[in-house]
Amino acid sequence: MSFNILGLSEEILKAINKKGYTEPSPIQSKAIPPILNGEDVLASAQTGTGKTAGFTLPVLQILSQEQHLRKRPVRALVLTPTRELAAQVYSNVKEYSEFLDLRSAVIFGGVNQKPQVAQLRQGVDILVATPGRLLDLCNQNVLSLSKVDIFVLDEADRMLDMGFLRDIERVIKLMPAKRQNLMFSATFSKDIKKLAHGILNRPVQVDATPENSTVDAINQQVYRVASGKKTGLIIKLISDGNWKQVLVFTRTKHGANKLCKKMVSAGITAAAIHGNKSQGARTKALAGFKNGSIRVLVATDIAARGLDIPLLPHVINYELPNVSEDYVHRIGRTGRAGASGVAISLVSADETSYLRDIEKLVGLKIPKEVIEGFEPDPNASTTPKKQGGGRHQRPRRSESKKGRTGSQKPKQNNTRGGRNRR
Ligand code: AMP
Repeated sequence: MSFNILGLSEEILKAINKKGYTEPSPIQSKAIPPILNGEDVLASAQTGTGKTAGFTLPVLQILSQEQHLRKRPVRALVLTPTRELAAQVYSNVKEYSEFLDLRSAVIFGGVNQKPQVAQLRQGVDILVATPGRLLDLCNQNVLSLSKVDIFVLDEADRMLDMGFLRDIERVIKLMPAKRQNLMFSATFSKDIKKLAHGILNRPVQVDATPENSTVDAINQQVYRVASGKKTGLIIKLISDGNWKQVLVFTRTKHGANKLCKKMVSAGITAAAIHGNKSQGARTKALAGFKNGSIRVLVATDIAARGLDIPLLPHVINYELPNVSEDYVHRIGRTGRAGASGVAISLVSADETSYLRDIEKLVGLKIPKEVIEGFEPDPNASTTPKKQGGGRHQRPRRSESKKGRTGSQKPKQNNTRGGRNRR
């Protein structure tokens, strides 16, 4: 299928062409037409499926076809859970709107608000924001959301996981009741369905799962190993395989730092990226990882959300996530755009129950191997270790335990026809 039949304008097609995309991804071909039609959309799509263009392209088109209002108040708001994701969505918005007369801005916390305020004062058609700074600036009357026509909630599941439900509700109250709503989520728990029911008005549901070759292309592998031998094993795998770009997940920020130091001592260039790192440090680490000067990026789940790293060949779970859905998010970092990817998990005895939950969720048995010299400890307890206190460490949810078959990705239930409660 070509982008030409989706009803996008010449200016947008020119920008797509400049990015080098030849055909829309499944989520794009499914989401763009109903969004252009003015409908609410509930989309099941994880990072790597092209979801950002899936909502950005039609939103830009709608905005560019309307008259700008005097002073250019915000007409489209994209809410994202993390600064990184906000920055990446914004960079996509800039690229796709290159040939349009639209102004965009991004606002997030952790940096000086002055430049953001200055930009908002000049007028912005499309605003990408994280909830905290957005509400701050609204409270300071620097920003009004009273003219928002289109609201996009990106990575809604992560928003809830990060405790943003109340903030989302506050933001909604600041916008006109009549508007178009688009909600994107990789997973669909009971809470997400409830949120969707509250925000969306008779949404069209789109799902990237059926033709999602990206997730199918992921080669998953488990290595059973003693917990004390994981660092040695990961260093061996990366060195022996001469892997050049590896994203490693740890459960805690402390664990990310510790592993990173050990990698560096072993002669592997590595950087850690997590919530305690400054924005500057995160941006630098990500840039180094992208340009090849850093081979290994060690990240916590939240820090990794929204990282735009195309064609990532290897993802390693140094520890399994205690929430099964995070596994789906993590492995979604590899095998993009039809390229094959490898997702490796190092699993010690105390993670046995996490592995069982993950296999139920993805609906398949992941092949298991033991590497000589890195055997599991036969006497280790299979009771999960007590979790540390990171923000991303959430209690296991009952949804994680429900078995799914035939798909590597959790499927959404049908919430179509959910009435708008406004
Ligand atoms: P996303 O899921 O939005 O994070 O996008 C994942 C990656 O796919 C990004 O690097 C995009 O630039 C890229 N991408 C988005 N749409 C397409 C497309 N139609 N063809 C090829 N690559 C794409």
